Amino acid sequence: MAKYQLVFDKIRELYNEPRDNISLHSPVFIGNEKKYLAECIDSTYVSSVGKFVDLFEGKVAAYTGANKAVVCVNGTSALYLALKLAGVETSDEVITQPLTFIATANAISYCCAKAIFIDVEKTTLGLDPIALEAFLSTESIIRDGVCYNKTTGRRIKACVPMHTFGHPCRIDEISIVCEKYSIELIEDAAESIGSFYKGRHTGTFGKIGVLSFNGNKTITTGGGGMLLFNDENLAKKAKHLSTQAKVPHKWEFVHDEIGFNYRMPNINAALGVAQMESLPLFIRKKRELSEEYNKFFKKVNIDFFQEPKYSYSNYWLNVIILGSEIERDLFLTESNSQGIMTRPVWRLMNKLPMFIGCQSGELSNSNWLEKRIVNIPSSVRI
Ligand SMILES: *Cc1c(COP(=O)(O)O)cnc(C)c1O
Repeated sequence: MAKYQLVFDKIRELYNEPRDNISLHSPVFIGNEKKYLAECIDSTYVSSVGKFVDLFEGKVAAYTGANKAVVCVNGTSALYLALKLAGVETSDEVITQPLTFIATANAISYCCAKAIFIDVEKTTLGLDPIALEAFLSTESIIRDGVCYNKTTGRRIKACVPMHTFGHPCRIDEISIVCEKYSIELIEDAAESIGSFYKGRHTGTFGKIGVLSFNGNKTITTGGGGMLLFNDENLAKKAKHLSTQAKVPHKWEFVHDEIGFNYRMPNINAALGVAQMESLPLFIRKKRELSEEYNKFFKKVNIDFFQEPKYSYSNYWLNVIILGSEIERDLFLTESNSQGIMTRPVWRLMNKLPMFIGCQSGELSNSNWLEKRIVNIPSSVRI
């Protein structure tokens, strides 16, 4: 018998599905998706104009409490736009965590900026505000209100913490450190729609927050992303940049800067409006599942990751932390061979060939977690 057979039996029981393979996170369409898609197709406005884009932006802004939300073709482009709007330029440096999905680090590279990797906390899986402060207090110097890296002489322009697997990091503390060092705060909230920290939605603490609606996220538009703003003028700039920087006019084609074709098509936004209507139900279901997992893993003495203090988490992907790399590998082999999809965490960014030359702080928590985290099936159960 497999060492973790009890766990696999429990997952099968929770997912009581006829299919052989239990996925990590499948989308669920049980609301108005087909109705809105049909309406969108009938209208012929499936592309860059149509009412669903405005509706979707309005719904996300209202739900998150952001003053403005601006759609984007995907989360990665939204992150890139956010960094550009925050003023990140060639040869700047941007701080992020090594324990993140590749998109965070790639977006920094698209700006021709360099990443600096600072450790995460074991209690949040997100950027550690104390490690951030420790790095900046010894490695940076502020001249004329601009933060410079003492070693490289480059400007440290922004910081991008990520709310890992939907669990909020200590974003208020991070925000205080960023303010102290005049660093712009951009939140990678791609995984954390529906997650709140101290009652406030993730992605609304920084200058800009970014959501993703990729197929594996809590809600999906097929592919898609969203920028969250408190500053409405900045939101206007984002909309302008994401729509080829076209000067609004009934017939003239005039563009006043180098823009991007990053606007989400109306047909994707139609899906988004329906998914937003289901979001409160999805969050309730996901939290019910995590409570079931929590009770079970307590009984079998496996460390199940629970939402951090002051947080209300969407539990996007449930996490267990195994005793060692050997145990993790055994768990991954056994579960995947039984048709239960499980995954290790991403290889740390600082170990990937493209980022090997980047500066890092001390990364003991990231290194520890990298060997032990396993994601287990987390789809909404209907
Ligand atoms: C999903 C994700 C993104 C954005 O992904 P897209 O697939 O481009 O929408 C960015 N950062 C993190 C941490 C993510 O998990």
